[in-house]
Amino acid sequence: MSKRGIIQPEPARVCELCGAIEECRPYGPNNEQICYDCGQKNLEVTQQKMAEYLGFNTGEPLILRLDEEKEESN
Ligand SMILES: [Zn+2]
Repeated sequence: MSKRGIIQPEPARVCELCGAIEECRPYGPNNEQICYDCGQKNLEVTQQKMAEYLGFNTGEPLILRLDEEKEESN
């Protein structure tokens, strides 16, 4: 079974758009690390970036880090 689409918790970091210390993801227009609030402000870009990040659009395995941690249960 593919585990793609699972989003792992990220440590808090500084949002590159608003400076908030939050759990951020690289969904900024230029792949900035941005917080949830900033992601909500530009949902279209965020969702596009999320899709790219998860490998849905590019077809490239750029989400290897998401695959690393699973597959150990059973
Ligand atoms: Zn922010």
